[in-house]
Amino acid sequence: MIELSHIVKRFGTNTVLNDISVTLAEGTVTALVGPSGGGKSTLLRCVNLLEIPTSGTIRLGDERLEFAAGQKVGWRAIQKLRRQTGMVFQNFQLFPHQTAIGNVMEGLVTVLKWPADRARARALELLEKVGMAHKADAWPSTLSGGQQQRVAIARALAPSPRVLLCDEPTSALDPELAEEVVEVLSRLAREGTTMIMATHDLRLASRVADDVVFLDAGVVVESGPPRKIFSVPERERTKRFIASLS
Ligand code: ATP
Ligand code: MG
Repeated sequence: MIELSHIVKRFGTNTVLNDISVTLAEGTVTALVGPSGGGKSTLLRCVNLLEIPTSGTIRLGDERLEFAAGQKVGWRAIQKLRRQTGMVFQNFQLFPHQTAIGNVMEGLVTVLKWPADRARARALELLEKVGMAHKADAWPSTLSGGQQQRVAIARALAPSPRVLLCDEPTSALDPELAEEVVEVLSRLAREGTTMIMATHDLRLASRVADDVVFLDAGVVVESGPPRKIFSVPERERTKRFIASLS
């Protein structure tokens, strides 16, 4: 179970997340959708503690962390929770000086201190899963955007995180390459990978997500299965947003 309870995030006096509570069952995919600036990326970044919530509680399996204004959270606790997560970014962010397999091995060797052989075997297995084993020794600059993103997904999955966080994983890709990535993500979803993804791509959300959370101005306007949120939304704000996209 992954639980975000009453998450508040302020930047100065600007409240960007205003009392967000979302629960995900293991093995499910949640899509965060909504207008630009609504807080999707900030919420993802709060889950892996790239941003520290101003207040609220995050529970990832056995790890539980509480945040309160003016109270510092220890570095070790942050590391422990962060290691339960893997993150995929819009612009891939592969290490340019490492090959595809080097990118996937990096965290296993440097952070988890795995021996190189074991890390290589695990990395190859993951590259196979995302259809990139044939490019294991290629440099990122020689790969297409879709291929780079698939390597980035393999890298994020390498330490077996409890949840995969994806921030606009297809937004930087033209439709054909986006489709490659959607296929990989939907296969991972079918295999039971727990994911939270922020996306503008409603096609991706409808194909992959079990639940959709519509975020606007830092609050959850409504949530539910994609066929409900996208076809028969209840709230006026959601209706307007969905209509604006079609
Ligand atoms: P988009 O769809 O454009 O990616 P989003 O839903 O991901 O938008 P966020 O990037 O989470 O939205 O931004 C939410 C709000 O938080 C915005 O008003 C943004 O300006 C603000 N914000 C985000 N990061 C910071 C920061 N580091 N410092 C100050 N304000 C920030
Ligand atoms: Mg964003």
